[in-house]
Amino acid sequence: MRTDAAAEIKERLTAAQVAELYGFPPGRGGFIRCPFHAGDDHGSLKLYPGSKGWHCFGCGAGGSVIDFVMRLFGISFRQAVVRIDIDFGLGLDLTGRRGAPAERSALMEARRLEAQEKADAEDRYREIAREYRYWWDCKKYFAPSFAAAASQLHPLYAEAIKRLPVLQYMLDQAEQRIGR
Ligand SMILES: [Zn+2]
Repeated sequence: MRTDAAAEIKERLTAAQVAELYGFPPGRGGFIRCPFHAGDDHGSLKLYPGSKGWHCFGCGAGGSVIDFVMRLFGISFRQAVVRIDIDFGLGLDLTGRRGAPAERSALMEARRLEAQEKADAEDRYREIAREYRYWWDCKKYFAPSFAAAASQLHPLYAEAIKRLPVLQYMLDQAEQRIGR
Protein backbone atom coordinates (compact mmCIF):
# COMPACT_ATOMS: atom_id res chain seq x y z
CA MET A 1 0.00 0.00 0.00
CA ARG A 2 1.31 3.41 -0.92
CA THR A 3 1.80 5.46 2.21
CA ASP A 4 0.72 8.60 0.36
CA ALA A 5 -2.78 7.09 -0.01
CA ALA A 6 -3.22 7.68 3.73
CA ALA A 7 -1.82 11.22 3.41
CA GLU A 8 -4.24 11.90 0.56
CA ILE A 9 -7.20 10.72 2.66
CA LYS A 10 -6.24 13.07 5.51
CA GLU A 11 -5.83 15.89 3.03
CA ARG A 12 -9.11 15.37 1.18
CA LEU A 13 -11.51 14.40 3.98
CA THR A 14 -12.42 16.31 7.11
CA ALA A 15 -13.32 14.56 10.35
CA ALA A 16 -16.87 15.93 9.98
CA GLN A 17 -17.31 14.37 6.53
CA VAL A 18 -16.11 10.99 7.74
CA ALA A 19 -18.11 11.01 10.98
CA GLU A 20 -21.27 12.05 9.13
CA LEU A 21 -21.00 9.32 6.50
CA TYR A 22 -20.75 6.70 9.22
CA GLY A 23 -23.79 7.98 11.10
CA PHE A 24 -22.49 10.73 13.38
CA PRO A 25 -23.63 14.09 11.99
CA PRO A 26 -21.83 16.91 13.81
CA GLY A 27 -23.92 19.14 16.06
CA ARG A 28 -23.24 22.66 17.21
CA GLY A 29 -19.55 23.53 17.28
CA GLY A 30 -18.63 20.32 15.46
CA PHE A 31 -19.26 17.97 18.38
CA ILE A 32 -20.69 14.44 18.17
CA ARG A 33 -21.60 11.82 20.72
CA CYS A 34 -18.48 9.76 21.22
CA PRO A 35 -18.87 6.19 19.90
CA PHE A 36 -15.78 5.13 21.85
CA HIS A 37 -17.04 5.58 25.40
CA ALA A 38 -20.40 4.83 26.95
CA GLY A 39 -22.94 7.40 28.11
CA ASP A 40 -21.73 10.40 26.14
CA ASP A 41 -25.14 12.10 26.05
CA HIS A 42 -23.82 15.60 25.57
CA GLY A 43 -21.39 15.02 22.75
CA SER A 44 -17.78 15.32 23.89
CA LEU A 45 -16.07 14.38 20.66
CA LYS A 46 -14.85 17.39 18.72
CA LEU A 47 -14.41 17.18 14.95
CA TYR A 48 -11.79 19.67 13.82
CA PRO A 49 -11.81 21.41 10.45
CA GLY A 50 -9.41 20.61 7.63
CA SER A 51 -6.97 17.80 8.29
CA LYS A 52 -6.78 18.33 12.05
CA GLY A 53 -8.71 15.16 12.91
CA TRP A 54 -10.77 14.70 16.05
CA HIS A 55 -10.51 14.46 19.83
CA CYS A 56 -12.86 13.27 22.57
CA PHE A 57 -12.76 15.32 25.74
CA GLY A 58 -14.58 12.53 27.58
CA CYS A 59 -12.31 9.53 27.00
CA GLY A 60 -9.25 11.11 25.46
CA ALA A 61 -9.50 9.19 22.18
CA GLY A 62 -8.42 11.06 19.09
CA GLY A 63 -6.45 11.08 15.89
CA SER A 64 -6.89 11.26 12.16
CA VAL A 65 -9.93 10.33 10.08
CA ILE A 66 -8.25 6.96 9.50
CA ASP A 67 -7.94 6.41 13.26
CA PHE A 68 -11.64 7.18 13.57
CA VAL A 69 -12.62 4.50 11.04
CA MET A 70 -10.14 1.96 12.51
CA ARG A 71 -11.66 2.38 15.95
CA LEU A 72 -15.24 2.56 14.78
CA PHE A 73 -15.08 -0.74 12.87
CA GLY A 74 -12.27 -2.41 14.77
CA ILE A 75 -10.16 -2.76 11.63
CA SER A 76 -6.49 -2.30 10.73
CA PHE A 77 -4.90 0.82 9.26
CA ARG A 78 -4.74 -0.77 5.82
CA GLN A 79 -8.35 -1.97 6.00
CA ALA A 80 -9.46 1.51 7.07
CA VAL A 81 -7.67 3.14 4.13
CA VAL A 82 -9.29 0.68 1.71
CA ARG A 83 -12.73 1.14 3.29
CA ILE A 84 -12.54 4.95 3.17
CA ASP A 85 -11.35 4.80 -0.43
CA ILE A 86 -14.38 2.68 -1.36
CA ASP A 87 -16.98 4.46 0.77
CA PHE A 88 -15.95 7.92 -0.47
CA GLY A 89 -15.14 6.80 -4.02
CA LEU A 90 -11.72 8.46 -3.83
CA GLY A 91 -10.08 6.26 -6.47
CA LEU A 92 -6.77 6.11 -4.64
CA ASP A 93 -3.82 4.11 -5.95
CA LEU A 94 -3.74 1.17 -3.53
CA THR A 95 -1.81 -1.21 -5.76
CA GLY A 96 1.06 -1.18 -3.29
CA ARG A 97 3.73 -1.36 -5.96
CA ARG A 98 6.10 0.42 -3.61
CA GLY A 99 4.95 -1.48 -0.54
CA ALA A 100 4.85 -0.53 3.12
CA PRO A 101 8.23 -0.32 4.86
CA ALA A 102 7.84 -3.75 6.46
CA GLU A 103 6.82 -5.35 3.16
CA ARG A 104 9.68 -3.59 1.40
CA SER A 105 12.34 -4.83 3.81
CA ALA A 106 10.97 -8.39 3.73
CA LEU A 107 11.15 -8.27 -0.06
CA MET A 108 14.73 -6.94 0.06
CA GLU A 109 15.69 -9.67 2.53
CA ALA A 110 14.18 -12.34 0.26
CA ARG A 111 16.08 -10.92 -2.71
CA ARG A 112 19.30 -10.82 -0.70
CA LEU A 113 18.86 -14.47 0.35
CA GLU A 114 18.11 -15.48 -3.21
CA ALA A 115 21.27 -13.74 -4.47
CA GLN A 116 23.28 -15.35 -1.65
CA GLU A 117 21.95 -18.81 -2.52
CA LYS A 118 22.79 -18.28 -6.17
CA ALA A 119 26.33 -17.13 -5.30
CA ASP A 120 26.81 -20.14 -3.00
CA ALA A 121 25.56 -22.51 -5.71
CA GLU A 122 27.96 -20.96 -8.22
CA ASP A 123 30.88 -21.28 -5.77
CA ARG A 124 29.92 -24.90 -5.20
CA TYR A 125 29.70 -25.53 -8.93
CA ARG A 126 33.19 -24.02 -9.50
CA GLU A 127 34.59 -26.10 -6.62
CA ILE A 128 33.18 -29.36 -8.01
CA ALA A 129 34.25 -28.43 -11.55
CA ARG A 130 37.81 -27.82 -10.30
CA GLU A 131 37.89 -31.20 -8.56
CA TYR A 132 36.39 -32.92 -11.56
CA ARG A 133 39.04 -31.35 -13.77
CA TYR A 134 41.82 -32.53 -11.41
CA TRP A 135 40.68 -36.16 -11.40
CA TRP A 136 39.99 -36.07 -15.13
CA ASP A 137 43.65 -35.03 -15.64
CA CYS A 138 44.78 -37.80 -13.25
CA LYS A 139 42.82 -40.37 -15.21
CA LYS A 140 44.34 -39.19 -18.46
CA TYR A 141 47.90 -38.77 -17.15
CA PHE A 142 48.15 -42.00 -15.18
CA ALA A 143 46.19 -44.20 -17.53
CA PRO A 144 47.90 -47.57 -18.06
CA SER A 145 49.29 -47.99 -21.55
CA PHE A 146 48.28 -51.64 -21.60
CA ALA A 147 45.65 -53.74 -19.93
CA ALA A 148 46.85 -54.03 -16.35
CA ALA A 149 45.67 -55.91 -13.30
CA ALA A 150 43.90 -53.78 -10.69
CA SER A 151 46.90 -54.04 -8.35
CA GLN A 152 49.18 -52.58 -11.01
CA LEU A 153 47.16 -49.45 -11.66
CA HIS A 154 48.57 -46.10 -10.58
CA PRO A 155 46.78 -45.17 -7.31
CA LEU A 156 45.71 -41.79 -8.70
CA TYR A 157 44.29 -43.44 -11.80
CA ALA A 158 42.38 -45.93 -9.65
CA GLU A 159 41.13 -43.10 -7.49
CA ALA A 160 40.10 -41.05 -10.52
CA ILE A 161 38.10 -43.96 -11.95
CA LYS A 162 36.27 -44.21 -8.65
CA ARG A 163 35.65 -40.50 -8.19
CA LEU A 164 34.81 -39.24 -11.65
CA PRO A 165 31.30 -40.75 -11.98
CA VAL A 166 30.36 -39.35 -8.57
CA LEU A 167 31.79 -35.95 -9.43
CA GLN A 168 30.02 -36.03 -12.77
CA TYR A 169 26.74 -36.57 -10.96
CA MET A 170 27.49 -33.79 -8.44
CA LEU A 171 28.46 -31.47 -11.27
CA ASP A 172 25.15 -32.12 -13.04
CA GLN A 173 23.26 -31.38 -9.83
CA ALA A 174 25.25 -28.19 -9.19
CA GLU A 175 24.69 -27.14 -12.80
CA GLN A 176 20.94 -27.53 -12.43
CA ARG A 177 20.96 -25.41 -9.27
CA ILE A 178 22.60 -22.49 -11.03
CA GLY A 179 20.30 -22.99 -14.02
CA ARG A 180 22.82 -23.89 -16.72
ZN1 LIG B 1 -14.98 9.41 24.05
